[in-house]
Amino acid sequence: MSSDDDAVHTICPYCGVGCGLRLEAGEEPGDVSLKPWFDAPVNEGALCIKGGASTQVVDHDDRLTEPLIRENGEFREATWDEALTRIVDELESIRDEHGPDATGFFSSSKVMNEENYLLQKLARRYGTNNVDNCTRMCHASTVYTLRNSLGAGAMTNSMQDLKDAGDVFWIQGANPAEQHVIAHSNYFRQAALEGATLIQIDPHANKTTRDVDLHLQLKPGTDIPLLNVVLKTILEEGLYDEDFIEERTTGFDHLEATLADFDMQEAADTCGVPLEDIQEAARIYAEADNAAIFTGMGMSQHRCGVDNVQNEVNLALITGNLGRPGTGVNPLRGQNNVQGTCDVGAMPNVLPGYQEVDDDEAREAVEAVWGFEIPSEPGLTNVEISNAIGDSIHGLFVMGENPVMSEPDSIEVEERMDDLEFLAVQDIFMTETAEFADVVLPATSWAERGGTVTNTDRRVQRMRPAVDVPGNTRHDLDILCELGTRLFGEDGGFEFDGPEEVFEELRQVCPSYHGMTYDSLGLEGIQWPCYEEGDEGDQYLYEESFDTDDGLGEIRGVRHTEPAEVADEEYPLVLTTARLEEHYNTGTMSTRSPTLVRRTPENFVDVHPADAEARGIEDGDYVTLRSRRGEIVLEANVTEAIKEGVVWTTPHFSDARANTLTNDVLDPLAKIPEYKAAAAEVEPAKPPESADD
Ligand code: SF4
Repeated sequence: MSSDDDAVHTICPYCGVGCGLRLEAGEEPGDVSLKPWFDAPVNEGALCIKGGASTQVVDHDDRLTEPLIRENGEFREATWDEALTRIVDELESIRDEHGPDATGFFSSSKVMNEENYLLQKLARRYGTNNVDNCTRMCHASTVYTLRNSLGAGAMTNSMQDLKDAGDVFWIQGANPAEQHVIAHSNYFRQAALEGATLIQIDPHANKTTRDVDLHLQLKPGTDIPLLNVVLKTILEEGLYDEDFIEERTTGFDHLEATLADFDMQEAADTCGVPLEDIQEAARIYAEADNAAIFTGMGMSQHRCGVDNVQNEVNLALITGNLGRPGTGVNPLRGQNNVQGTCDVGAMPNVLPGYQEVDDDEAREAVEAVWGFEIPSEPGLTNVEISNAIGDSIHGLFVMGENPVMSEPDSIEVEERMDDLEFLAVQDIFMTETAEFADVVLPATSWAERGGTVTNTDRRVQRMRPAVDVPGNTRHDLDILCELGTRLFGEDGGFEFDGPEEVFEELRQVCPSYHGMTYDSLGLEGIQWPCYEEGDEGDQYLYEESFDTDDGLGEIRGVRHTEPAEVADEEYPLVLTTARLEEHYNTGTMSTRSPTLVRRTPENFVDVHPADAEARGIEDGDYVTLRSRRGEIVLEANVTEAIKEGVVWTTPHFSDARANTLTNDVLDPLAKIPEYKAAAAEVEPAKPPESADD
């Protein structure tokens, strides 16, 4: 057996906090054990339950180990040559018949920067910008707003400077105690123990609520009126920073005009929160020396997600809480590499480094490195691609994503999969989406791959392989290189000898990564921007100016937009969804972990006692939860953690699939779906096993 000294330093595969850990290979193939990494830059050895259980998926019996091809409706094992030949033939045939924009490419936040870089390059070499990733489902609106109003679509500050300097943490639409556990325990909670004040704005009383000083439990979809009360209180009481507004912002007049006739009591009633509580929170934030905003999917996943986040930017800008330690607007990113997947250009409107595809100068600079022409029209987002299946979309290549589970109104998505002429899925398990595929490629688990990932505070860190790939599995990077070479020839731009060579090309076309090398990343990583070799990166952004055209931060007043569906006679409740500490997104990985499943084996719905009593539901009863799009049967958890009139469930479980109920209405700018509010009803049901009795 290897000695402990042979343990490799790598990064937890789950959330965007980016905790470091070490892996040691055992005697048997696939055997791998986890060791603490006490000097890890983000977590100093600490791991949450998911990180601790992360090796359980590596040699799981369900791992795909052979390529599969569908024949006569059934999968059969195939050689790599057969599988890749089939993909190349089908992609070429679709392009010949319908044009390159008839195919979509789904990139993945579960894989490395290098692999995402290659997939978006492959899509563009194929001739389309139809490439997107799961940011579209989580923080697309945050990325959009932060880029437009401040300059960069990422956390403005860092966990470390926030802990050291933050006096007030304003946590809106996020539950870090469950979803970013080590960020919460090592930084936010630690700061609170040292005197910082924590304010939470969320419809659900959750584990974070235990640690906060003030919880504003608003109705789902009322974040804009709540923040407008905060902003108007600050304006009326003169708590804003006149110098900062004058020197560093634009648009203050627009905000004043937007709020001129705004009725704060009416807005507080809309939110279902006492006016005095909202105003108390406003004063605590505005009077702090350094106040930081943390924003989660409770803000971004609305049809007004861009406006929601803009109002947080407004709050930070009018109080001068940007550009120094302990401040900022800070999205907590959900997946291990969701930040990096965007950074490297796996989005339909931007190239690596967020350079717009329709910016001729930027596009031509990338073309000069790549050696081929890039289409100049932005492509479709992933929800748009799914919605266009059978219409303008005929082929789909999915790497490490599971849209049948993750997209809203998922019964529709599932039905559309049958309308594809060709579907290829590259993954480690047979997902709900892979079940519809024509070709399935067995890919690499996190413990088997090397490359870089970028965490929630812009830290680019290296992952290192600890064990060999099982069976006939191949590395994602090798698969993409071979696919690219088969599609575009030996000079097609896909001949790389490992991830470091890919990274060397990536940094040529991605300005904020330009100064990084594998050597300089070392064990600590570097927080972008890092423009030149030798730059150490930045803990916080915008010290002198914003990265906008005029260097100013944009204030823009916004008005309340109701959710697309509100409660009515037929669906008198509002359904909202969120994740659990012990599970991960569509459950592909976490529901295969005995440790994680033991804690929560199946889905459930939180129902307020008054709503339960009115429907004859008792705690632990099975209920049918339905919306206009579908229904699921699951257990009722009767609790005052949720407001009367609201029900809450989780998206992790295939058996009671929450996204069959959610609404696919989109934010018009960021194209993110409104997962967080749908009209719903709940009623007593038989347990699933006896439902047909
Ligand atoms: Fe992994 Fe996130 Fe838990 Fe850290 S907090 S161990 S990165 S899941």
